[in-house]
Amino acid sequence: MEEQHCTAHLADVALPVPLAKAFTYLVPESLANAVGPGCRVLCTLGARRTVGLVISVREGEPPHGAKPLLEVMAGIALPADLVSFLARLASYYLAPIGEVVRLALPPTDRDAERAVSTPTLFPIAKGIAPRKIQWVLATAAIESQIQGQAKAASLLATVRAHGEMPISKLEAQFGGARATIKRLVSQGLLELFEKEAPRDPFFADPIAKDCPPEPTKAQREAIAVLESALASTKPSTFLLHGVTGSGKTEVYLRAIACAKELRRGTIMLVPEIALTPQLVGRFRARFGDDVAVLHSALTPRERFDMWRKLASGEVNVAIGARSALFAPVANLGLVLVDEEHDPSFKQEEGVRYHARDMSILRAHMQGGICVLGSATPSLEAEQLARLGKAHKLSLPNRAREQPMPSVEIIDLRSMGSGPTGNPKLSLPLHRAIEESLSKQEQIILFLNRRGFAPSIRCESCGKLASCPQCSVALTFHKSRGGTMQCHWCDYAAKVIAQCPTCLSNRIALEGLGTEKLEETLSLAFPKARVARLDRDVASGKNIEKVLARVRAREVDILVGTQMVAKGHDLPHVTLVGVINADAALSIPDFRASERAFQLLVQVAGRAGRGEAKGRVLVQTYNPEHHAIAFAVHHDTSGFLERELKDRRELSYPPFSRMALVRVDSLDEAAAKNAAAELAKVARAVACKEGHGALDVRGPAVAPIAKVRNRFRFRVMLKAISRERLRQGALAMHATLGQLPRTVRVTIDVDPVSLL
Ligand code: ADP
Ligand code: ZN
Ligand code: ZN
Repeated sequence: MEEQHCTAHLADVALPVPLAKAFTYLVPESLANAVGPGCRVLCTLGARRTVGLVISVREGEPPHGAKPLLEVMAGIALPADLVSFLARLASYYLAPIGEVVRLALPPTDRDAERAVSTPTLFPIAKGIAPRKIQWVLATAAIESQIQGQAKAASLLATVRAHGEMPISKLEAQFGGARATIKRLVSQGLLELFEKEAPRDPFFADPIAKDCPPEPTKAQREAIAVLESALASTKPSTFLLHGVTGSGKTEVYLRAIACAKELRRGTIMLVPEIALTPQLVGRFRARFGDDVAVLHSALTPRERFDMWRKLASGEVNVAIGARSALFAPVANLGLVLVDEEHDPSFKQEEGVRYHARDMSILRAHMQGGICVLGSATPSLEAEQLARLGKAHKLSLPNRAREQPMPSVEIIDLRSMGSGPTGNPKLSLPLHRAIEESLSKQEQIILFLNRRGFAPSIRCESCGKLASCPQCSVALTFHKSRGGTMQCHWCDYAAKVIAQCPTCLSNRIALEGLGTEKLEETLSLAFPKARVARLDRDVASGKNIEKVLARVRAREVDILVGTQMVAKGHDLPHVTLVGVINADAALSIPDFRASERAFQLLVQVAGRAGRGEAKGRVLVQTYNPEHHAIAFAVHHDTSGFLERELKDRRELSYPPFSRMALVRVDSLDEAAAKNAAAELAKVARAVACKEGHGALDVRGPAVAPIAKVRNRFRFRVMLKAISRERLRQGALAMHATLGQLPRTVRVTIDVDPVSLL
């Protein structure tokens, strides 16, 4: 019999399996009206039943053995525009569509999950009723009855200052406040009522008063351009290059206000939400509750609540770190990326997407605009502007006309140590700290090494203590009774008193970390209040606490890693010290200079944002290095020019495209062979493409050869065009199924970290 070619109604469905492709199912007549992109469907996968997510529906010839969809699941569906964006993202990064879809799904609700009897691999919460909590409200009654009751009086004063407050907050502040509240209620001074829970910690504080400043001329020009671009509904991209303190935030706020008037939603991406309580405060002051702040401290319920409000258009602005790229904002028209140069926009596990790059795609797919903001644009963004793919908007001066801080080099080659005896606390820096302290001004010291001492060495045989699971040295942390910790895995042990190799007990702690710097400063300046901001002291809530103390001037010297370099606007900081400007330059990465320059300019930008002029001292053994020299002169354009020239000569991004293929396994030989096999496949493609079109490097041992006992190898692809790179990467991708199961391979398209 002749084979029949008939078309049918088909659905491509993402299933939660690590396969690149969506699966095709038949859509039965009875479901035809109910099935659309973004809805969840029950389908068969082999002998199992599973829940998948429809990516697209189409008419076509059904593939051999295609099965029908069984059911459309009730509950929430992903917006169709978000689904097509996810499909494009998955294809670009060669990532399994099932994993990409997970990035955008609202959080799981355990109850909803239990309620469904079939296994739901894509569980989506059904509606959850908002949680009500108890609040108190101050009444107009006169408090004559509570004289002499200190606690009651101050509690009442607090509630009066806020108008109304959740009881839980008063409990936290006053400790066991329930009895007092009860009494005040019985006296008619407080009233109890129920209200929807404040959505998250950022919303626990009352909204600050907003007094929008009159925009400067440069701000006005930038705002006008963005407003007309928003109104035109033509996709476009902007690079907002504004020096530190130039008032980029005000430009963002006005652009969002304009988008709101046009009934379009906004996504704003920031490097790390916990580091930006001030920025969130300004957004809330301007837009009140029309802002969803997405951050890791949210409970699933809060997260779901925000997801629903954004999807329905009830809330129009989403702010968050890179994953906010997937917020289901209705009628999206504006995507803002603040500090677009920040490496945290690249996800370094699972689906390795770059939120900055993808924000352009997301905005454009919706006919919207994308604004990349920075004082130190990435080479990628700068090149987009030079190619005319992005329009550059400049804010060349500080908003309140403060001068840029003066930056001075301290050449450590010719400078001895100051009074502390520590060579990394030179005399000029020591004197500058004294001076600022005497004027009661604040100081930031930047040192990009956490822990107490970066290495632990036996002075007899010279051996370094290293991680038993990774090929890296252990860091000494003084806290918790003195431990040696690996910064690559979770290994931690009590510090050794004796060398395991030569049994000598001459163990030296070498180098300077933030913990030791904090201790050294406390000893040298006993009256100063010293605080530290790095990943060891600060996660989520704690970061906010430290920053709040600095803002309240309860801290004189803030010591920290790159966390202190972020966009903080602290008007009383007049001195910034960079302990070791060379650290960032020693990383084996073609972006080392770029990163060093950005860190220096950003941290320098924290100084002198208030009345008094700022001063920045940069300690270095490399004063001639162009990253340092240009940073000293605040010369971002000069740096970009020079760095672009170097990149072009060496054909590095943005003048080429890269993909880094990482191969690892517990079995060293298996990893090595797999890497060799992948390199061979890529070379075969390179030969076909012709000389110079696709460059394959490796296989080679990774810079960190072993992590968590897995041996690491890599293959690097570099191509002059995106398409060429894709051909090579696709060929490798197609080979993955043939590699031994013990070998893990990740293909990192447009890698940021090369480690
Ligand atoms: P950036 O993010 O560009 O470093 P910010 O947005 O933090 O700068 O602004 C720096 C400071 O300038 C903030 O304190 C802000 O309130 C203030 N500012 C911004 N725009 C204006 C303006 N037009 N007039 C007065 N002050 C402004
Ligand atoms: Zn030894
Ligand atoms: Zn380790």
